Amino acid sequence: MIGTVEVIYRGIFQKHLGQRITRGIVLAGRQQGKIGISFGRYGDSPERNGIPAKSFAVVADTEDELQVHLSRYEPINNDVTVVVDDTLCKGVESWAWYGLQPVHKLTRPGGTLLVVSLQTPEALLQDCHKKGAEWHLGILPGTASFSGLWVYKDDHTDVRLLGAIAKLAPHVATIESVEGAIRGEWKNELKVASARKAYERASTRRVGPEEGNPEAPYAFELLKWTEMKEGLVIPAIPVKQEVPGWTGGYRPGRNPTFKKFATRTMRPVVDFETCTKCTICWLQCPDSCFDVTPTGHYDANLEACCGCGVCEAVCPVTDCITMVNEQAFANNTSQFEAYEKDPAAYKAWLTATITDKATTQRSHGFRYRGQYADELAEAGAEGEPKGGD
Ligand code: SF4
Ligand code: SF4
Repeated sequence: MIGTVEVIYRGIFQKHLGQRITRGIVLAGRQQGKIGISFGRYGDSPERNGIPAKSFAVVADTEDELQVHLSRYEPINNDVTVVVDDTLCKGVESWAWYGLQPVHKLTRPGGTLLVVSLQTPEALLQDCHKKGAEWHLGILPGTASFSGLWVYKDDHTDVRLLGAIAKLAPHVATIESVEGAIRGEWKNELKVASARKAYERASTRRVGPEEGNPEAPYAFELLKWTEMKEGLVIPAIPVKQEVPGWTGGYRPGRNPTFKKFATRTMRPVVDFETCTKCTICWLQCPDSCFDVTPTGHYDANLEACCGCGVCEAVCPVTDCITMVNEQAFANNTSQFEAYEKDPAAYKAWLTATITDKATTQRSHGFRYRGQYADELAEAGAEGEPKGGD
C-alpha cells in the first residue's frame, strides 16, 4: 500500500521544517517495515522569503510499489497535504508554475488537508477553494512556526505534525511508528510526548464538494509553441501602467503573470490620514509595490506586495503602516479606494484592524518552553493546561 504526503511551506523560513516532516514520515514508515523517500520540489531558489514551496514523502510496502509510484513526475493524489502556515490556504503561486493553485490541488479526493492554525474550520474554508470532490480538513491547533534565514527553530512543530498525520492518516504512519522514529532519530522523550499530544489534539471535518471559496483561482493560458516568437524573446515590463480614471499619479509596470501575493503571511495596512507623503515607503519597497495615487498618497498594490514588512520598518510616522496577518483579509482590493469612498469608515476599520492582537502578533516560533500551551490557552483551546509542553 502506498502513502503519500505533500508539505506546503514558506520558502526559507520553513524550509527545514518541511524537510524534517517528510523525512520523519519516511523514518516512521521504516519502523513498520516500509520503504520510502522524501524529496523537495518547487523550492525557494532563487531565494525568496515566503515563496510557497513543497516537499513530498512517499512510503510503500514494497520496492516495486515505490518505483511504480515514483515513475510519475510528482505525487498528484496525496493522502495528506500538510500546510504549515494557514495563510497558504488562500492558494499557492510558486516559481514552478503560473497562476494560483488551490492549496488542495494535489490532495486526492477523500484525502486530508492538515493545517496548523488557530482558526476555525469555517474560517479556513473561506480561503480554501471549492474542490468539486469530498475532502477532509484537519486542524492541528497552533500558530505558524517561522525561522530566520536557513536557521531551524526546534519548537516541536515537526513532531506535532507527525503525530497529527498518524491520527488522520494511520495508513501512512501509526502513532507507535512515529514515536519509534522520534526516539531513533531525535532521541528526545519530550518530542515523543509532543507528538502524542498532537495525536490527541488534532481534529478533522468532512468538507463537501461544493464547500469552500467559490472564486476561480487566478490562471492564464500559456503560449502554445505555434504562438511563440522566433528565438528567445522576453518582453520587457513597461515602465508605467495607465490607470483608467486617473489624472496624474503613477502606477509602475509589473509582471502581469507573476503576482507574488501568495508569498505573503502579513500585509501592510496604510493610514492615509497620517501619511505625510514623504515617499520613503515607495523608494524602499523592494518590489515597487506602491502606486502613487493622483492625490499623492502611497497605496500598497496588494497583488504585487510580498509582505516583506520593509515599508512598515521605514515609515517615519507612528502606526502609519502596520503589518497585519493575511488571515484578516478576504481580497486584494485597493485600500486607497476604500479610504476615498468613505474616510471615516476606513479609519474605523483601520483602527480595529491594527489594534487586533490576534492578527498583528508576529509569529517567529517559540521563545520559551510552555509557550505553545500558553498560546492555545489564550486562543481558548479547550482543556489546555498552562505551562504544558
Ligand atoms: S510589505 Fe511593503 S515593502 Fe514589502 S513588498 Fe509589501 S509594500 Fe513592499
Ligand atoms: S513612508 Fe509612511 S509617511 Fe511616508 S509616504 Fe509612506 S506611508 Fe506615507
